Parts: sequence; C-alpha cells; structure tokens
Amino acid sequence: MERSVKIIFIFMVLVSSSLSIEAQNAIDASELRLRHDIGALANDSMFGREAGYSSEYKAAKFIEKAFSKCRLTPINKETGSYLKAFDFGDYTYKKAELWINNKQYRTGVDFGAVAGSADIENWSGETAFIEERNGLENLKTNNSYKGKAVVLDMKGNEHNSSPGIWDIVSYIHECIARGAEAILLFNASHNDFGNRLFNADSMPSFPVPVLYITHKVRVDLNNNSGATCKISVEIKRKRPAAHNVIGFMDNGAQKTIMIGGHFDHVGTPGVKDPIAGDPNIHNGADDNASGAAAVLELARWITARKGLRYNYLFIAFSAEEKGLFGSWNFCNSNDFKLFNIAWMLNLDMVGRLGWSGKNRVDVLGLASAREWKKILKKVDHTGLKLTKLGGGAAFSDHYPFRVHKVPFIYFTTGLEHEYHKPVDDPELINYKGEAVILDYIERLIVEAERSPEPEYKKIGLFRDIGTVIKMFILKM
Ligand SMILES: [Zn+2]
Repeated sequence: MERSVKIIFIFMVLVSSSLSIEAQNAIDASELRLRHDIGALANDSMFGREAGYSSEYKAAKFIEKAFSKCRLTPINKETGSYLKAFDFGDYTYKKAELWINNKQYRTGVDFGAVAGSADIENWSGETAFIEERNGLENLKTNNSYKGKAVVLDMKGNEHNSSPGIWDIVSYIHECIARGAEAILLFNASHNDFGNRLFNADSMPSFPVPVLYITHKVRVDLNNNSGATCKISVEIKRKRPAAHNVIGFMDNGAQKTIMIGGHFDHVGTPGVKDPIAGDPNIHNGADDNASGAAAVLELARWITARKGLRYNYLFIAFSAEEKGLFGSWNFCNSNDFKLFNIAWMLNLDMVGRLGWSGKNRVDVLGLASAREWKKILKKVDHTGLKLTKLGGGAAFSDHYPFRVHKVPFIYFTTGLEHEYHKPVDDPELINYKGEAVILDYIERLIVEAERSPEPEYKKIGLFRDIGTVIKMFILKM
C-alpha cells in the first residue's frame, strides 16, 4: 500500500472506530441511568406504584425531579409542578332507585348513575324523549323540558356513528339549560367507548341526577314521552386522585411530538397494609418502570439537542392499569388541544429484550400513518429484530390518542411469564438491551424530524386482530 493511502486508511479506521466507541459509550451511560431509574421505581419502597395510593405520588415525585433536571417546562407554570392530578372513577351507590310507571328497575343491572350525577331524594316527574340523531340544533329549538326527565337516546348519526363523551356532556348541558331536572341516557351504538361513556371518569359533575339505562328500560319506555318517573340517587364518592407527570420542551414550533409511558403498576393486590419486603409487592420493573425510565432517558437526550423542528412533550401516565385513565384524562383535557400533537410514541414494557429469543422488539401502530414504513426503512436497526405490526388496540396509553386521530408508534419487548406477578423485578431487566432499543428510537426520532410528518390513517379491524395474534399468540 502506498504510504499516503496507508495514512488515509489508518485515519479512516481511527475515525470510524472512535465513532463506534462514542455510540458504545452513549449506550453504556444510558444503561447505567436505566439501572438507576428502574431500580428506584421498582424498589419495594414504592409498593408497586398503585394509582390512588401514596406510593404512586412518591413515584410521580421521583419522575418530576428527573424532568426538572432536564429543564422541561412544568405543566403548571404558576406552581412549578409537573404533576397533573385527576380523579378516576371509583364510586359505589349508597342508594340508587328508578321507577317508571310504578315499575322498579334493578340498580347496576337495568340502570346506573354516571359518576357526575347529582344526589337526589324522591324526585318525580314526566319523561320527555330525544333522539340524538335529530341533532343538537333540534334540541336547541325545543324548549319544553321544564321539570322533565329527558330520555337521551344516543344512537349516533351518519356523521358520527358513536358519540364522544364531550358530545354527550354538551347534550346534557343543553337539556339542563332548557329546564330538564333529570337525564336518562341510552347508548344504542355501544361502539368505541361502550359503557365507558356512562361510567366515565372524566364526566364533569352535573346539577341534576344523570342515569344511564339499559336496553330493557329503553324498550319499556318506547319512544313516547309522558311516562311517570321516580328517581333517588345517593352516590358514595370514593374517587382517589392519581397524577400524570408532564414536562414540555418548547422549541417555538407549531406542532409537538408526544413521548409517553405509564409509571403506575398494580400495587399489592389483596394486602391491606403492606410493609417493605412483603412478598406480594408487585414491583412492575418491566411493566412499566422500564417504559417510564425510557421516557426519562429520551427526555435527557432530546433536551440536550438543538435545532429541532418540533416541540416535545413528555408524559409519565398514571392509572393505566386501572383502565388507561391517565391518557384518557390528558386526551379529553384542554391541554391536548393546546399542544397540537403531531404523533405519539408509547413505551410499555421495553425491558426484556432477548427473553423470547432473537432480540425481538414489537413495533405497533405502523398502520396509523403511511409515513411510518418509509421512516423505519431508513433507520439502522442493527442488533434488534423488529416485528412490524399495523394495529394497536385499547391495551395501552396510545389508544386514547388513536381515538383522537393522532398517529402513534408503540414499542414493547412483549409479555413475559412474570407479567403482573410479584416477580416482575429489576433483576430480570436487560438494561443493555433497553439502552440499545432507546439508541434505535433516537435514530428514529432524528429521521422523523427530517421526514414528512406522519398523517393519521384509520386502522382497520383486521390489522388489530392480526397484531394481537402476532403479539400474544404466535410470538414469532
Ligand atoms: Zn403496562
């Protein structure tokens, strides 16, 4: 080899090896931080981070501290707090009675009260019937609900096959404004939200009793107004607070990329007053201390960067295990509209790379935007066997975003044997593996920054079914 060529060659080898050393160093440093964060969140002293308990608050404060170190802007600028408290539905009836034309119906079977219902003793009056398909305009022009129990039949219409929660709330308010003294809701479509509409956590409080009725009562009522109706409701409200932890990196952009994962877990099921070391503490190291730690790690990496095209919003969700309450709460809040979210990245259980063999990582939601495939194609995934999946149904926090038509991408190393057992412990986490996954996700974010923005596309039912089969049944 000629001398000058030799020198250039040696120089190139040095440069390329120093680059890979740099990447390796970044992965090693990331591994150490993951070890620290997952170790803390999945420690016995966190008692399994169950939403509604003080241990959840303790974990939320731990995450808040890490967000603050990254100099993210807190969700509450006035108080400087990154915590956003919300209630989730946990209430029972002291008493709930419904009589129509002197026939009594069964509580919790034929009818129930919504979380925001007012308490009332022996209210009685006549029913008035409204079909939602006739539209809110129709309701507005009608002024005859004074002293009535309005039966709201939420069938949906051709534009909106299943009414959203805020549609229902606005209907209820319209009825009350026109003198209604009680509301009986009926949901014929049972799509999407299903019964969640009526048991929903995020319903506001109403000044009148609001009940939901089942098909049986609806049939008895027929479409006629003028049935006599007697209602008593007394709700025992035991609605513990949970906390989303929210930090924002404002780059002055129009749109925001949302990076999230839940930090709550299932606590100590069946144990009333656990003590440290209790064998029943479900530590949830993989589910989902691994994902919460991943959110922190990505926050550290992104906030250290300059010249970004998007703003970045980081959320550690709570009460996921209770039914995605944290992510629903965020998506139904005003914050959701304010941040103008371009797409969301969900991290749920990313700590067990290699346990099912072949370093498999499942990537869900790829059918939520056409652009995902193009972006993924350009990103080097050395060391990972990506299983590309189109769907992603209501089993993690991406789902409320999907319902709100936000494209999503969701990473997981899948369900292992220890899932939702007390043995989901930090010792079983593949820290290096998680660091390698995050290194890959960082490259993906870089690629997404310079690619056309993903545009939401509706995911077909077969995509969702196929995704579930590949994830949970075939585990290929
Ligand atoms: Zn989870």
